[in-house]
Amino acid sequence: MKWTAIRKDPGSPKQSPHLSDYQATLADFSWDNIRRELPSLPGKKGFNIAHAAVDCHAEGQLAKHVALRWLSQSDRVERFTYGELKTLTSRFANVLHMLGLGRGDTVCTLTGRIPELYIAALGALKNTSVFCPLYSAFGPEPIYQRMSRGDAKILITTRRLYREKVAKLLNRLPLLRYVLLVDLEEHEDSRLLSLPRLMAKVQDTFTIPSTDLEDIALLHFTSGTTGMPKGALHVHGAALTHYLTGKYVLDFHADDVFWCTADPGWVTGTSYGILAPLLHGITNIVDEADFDATRWCNILESQKVSVLYTAPTAIRRLMRLGAEPVKSYNLSHLRLVQSVGEPLNPEAIVWGQEALGMPIHDNWWQTETGGIMIANFPAMEIRPGSMGRPLPGIEAAIVRRSEDGGAEEIETPGTQGELALRPGWPSMFRGYLHDEERYRSCFASDWYLTGDLAKRDGDGYFWFVGRADDIIKTAGHMVGPFEVESVLMAHPAVAEAGVIGKPDPVVGELVKGFVSLKSGFEASDALRLELIAFTRKMLGSAVAPREIEFNQHLPKNRAGKIMRRLLKARELGLPDGDLSTMEE
Ligand code: ATP
Ligand code: MG
Repeated sequence: MKWTAIRKDPGSPKQSPHLSDYQATLADFSWDNIRRELPSLPGKKGFNIAHAAVDCHAEGQLAKHVALRWLSQSDRVERFTYGELKTLTSRFANVLHMLGLGRGDTVCTLTGRIPELYIAALGALKNTSVFCPLYSAFGPEPIYQRMSRGDAKILITTRRLYREKVAKLLNRLPLLRYVLLVDLEEHEDSRLLSLPRLMAKVQDTFTIPSTDLEDIALLHFTSGTTGMPKGALHVHGAALTHYLTGKYVLDFHADDVFWCTADPGWVTGTSYGILAPLLHGITNIVDEADFDATRWCNILESQKVSVLYTAPTAIRRLMRLGAEPVKSYNLSHLRLVQSVGEPLNPEAIVWGQEALGMPIHDNWWQTETGGIMIANFPAMEIRPGSMGRPLPGIEAAIVRRSEDGGAEEIETPGTQGELALRPGWPSMFRGYLHDEERYRSCFASDWYLTGDLAKRDGDGYFWFVGRADDIIKTAGHMVGPFEVESVLMAHPAVAEAGVIGKPDPVVGELVKGFVSLKSGFEASDALRLELIAFTRKMLGSAVAPREIEFNQHLPKNRAGKIMRRLLKARELGLPDGDLSTMEE
């Protein structure tokens, strides 16, 4: 399949990239310069994310600028200026301090996307505690797993979530000192406290203790796509990456209105749903509600969103609507759309051009990397189907693991291997919680090995092939599921596709595709044969799926990723494995 490159139109008023020349920016780049663009804590007391993201703006010209614009489930809009956010987060930090929580203590939240979540995140960072957001739709067991592994000392939640999910866990969580309820009027007992009461009792100002770039700030669990979620630890210095990528990839400018659709329970929802936009002093949209195509279009229009950061799963759901309904909205403020989390099928990029009037930019990173590492920058030509090129300050390579446990770089363009990064970028994870051995096993020959397979072309663009665990070995070929899924998605009937290798005595593994159909299409043998013929024409018979199964409910995790391991386990009649992050 040939997808032509999309060039940005240099004269377009919608584009105002910070980075106009990739090579020149690389040559000039240093992390020290980025560090100098961010404020230090007063009195040579180091660097604290929340100070840089909130207080320094509140103390300057942005005091009255809207930091958070929160849209409630029922369409109420609440605005918080940088000045107000400073006060609220200082109060929350005082609450933590009063309750005896300090440096390195884990503060968990289990709430929907409500203002208290954002206040707690930034307040915990001010207090040099470790912020660990939990996704509110988790059931009791995944909540217990994460809180106990994370040594949670305090939990912020709602009365309903407490009653339904947390109450029964309390005696299994001996380290948990307090539960603060955002909607409780009076303290219930010595452990169950009212957050509004505590907030009313403390002072408006808080002196941030000295904070080191290397102090642990965030604990994020991975999405559990490939197995049991891992707890990745990040430091205050990670903000350098958030700031850098806000500048170059999301192209933030002073009057931007930014919307990151991810929940803070996933790393994207914290790195970009809270920190990056505030580090840049712009207005951040938070929507309490879950995905709904019409609601999303309304928000883009009514809130005048200029930069959108979302995920392929949402884009595919918008695509089900077709381009026409989306085109009926006034999206003239929208300037840039970026996507992360899963491969972005070229088809989606073409759809973006038609429906939104601009291509969708793909970028790649992981919970472990803390921030975007590889991206299609606004200032460069997009190659649909490619994740783009490494950020300034990031060295990426394709490597081959050697028998002696090392890793060798593969220089030849177009060769498939494991995607690796040179350790040392500021938001690199500093460990997997309570799993030093697993952490160490991610590094070899001075590379961090990502577990993803990719190729690099002659111009330095990286192309995602698949997760190392998902690669299909069929009749001597290595097939990446993404390539096959993208072709399936190019067929007009297909909404989503997941491709796996199914053990086969003759070819080793045969390629099997699971597809869900767009509305208006019916599963039938004729369509199955048509899809097989369609993929054969595009991919050749060695790579095209031999089997296709229709499934309107492809298993996904809550981060919206198709769980191929589950498709495979179910195909083979094996146990499901960890389902804690699975979507209902
Ligand atoms: P787990 O590690 O628990 O299995 P996970 O890897 O899905 O879960 P995350 O850290 O949220 O958890 O996701 C990172 C992974 O998502 C990457 O390693 C990659 O496989 C995939 N991914 C992210 N962005 C892209 C992208 N633009 N293209 C292709 N894959 C992507
Ligand atoms: Mg992973």
